[in-house]
Amino acid sequence: MKILIIEDEIKTAKFLKKGLVEAGYVVDVAFDGFDGLHLAQEAQIDLLILDIMLPSMDGWQILTRLRQAGRHIPVLILTARDAVTERVRGFELGADDYLVKPFAFSELLARVRSLLRRRPPRTQETIRLGDLEIDLLRQRATRAGRRLELTSKEFLLLSLLARRSGEVLSRTLIAEAVWDMNFDSDTNVVDVNVRRLRSKVDEPFPLKLIHTVRGAGYVLESNQ
Ligand code: CA
Repeated sequence: MKILIIEDEIKTAKFLKKGLVEAGYVVDVAFDGFDGLHLAQEAQIDLLILDIMLPSMDGWQILTRLRQAGRHIPVLILTARDAVTERVRGFELGADDYLVKPFAFSELLARVRSLLRRRPPRTQETIRLGDLEIDLLRQRATRAGRRLELTSKEFLLLSLLARRSGEVLSRTLIAEAVWDMNFDSDTNVVDVNVRRLRSKVDEPFPLKLIHTVRGAGYVLESNQ
């Protein structure tokens, strides 16, 4: 079982690492938000312990990016803030649990054990639809065994459509999820990007996966 700690207070990070190693876990530490996100995306980890106030990229941004990329590892948020609104925000962004500093190590360990018991199976890290295969961990997609050369936004867009295949997604929802912005005024960005994605995912193949639902949005389906 491997745990990643993203925490910029070196004393806290070392204390947590020592305790978790003694409890039998393999532990990696990142002291900076950007490095932490990189490790969380690349490394095979089972749980993330995430501080909120971090240099270069805060915990909220890290959590948002991970969930958008389809990373479903359990996330335990550590923070000095205990306002209810902050807690709600954490859960809305996909945090699994929340611990307010200062805390007792025994409490952290209990939460870690409980999160690891109910973690989702790793099979969620690959999505297969017909001959389309999306490897969420390596951020690679193939169709009929052929590698699709996608930009990171195109990959995000494809994984969003695939994770919710069969469901019509509105341009607004797509814009918010992929670009983290509200495109009320210009959902054209979505259309342009879907067109580019289609040219790579659908054009070279007889069976089309991405469908336009007039007036509603887009849906990815393999059984048409
Ligand atoms: Ca901090």
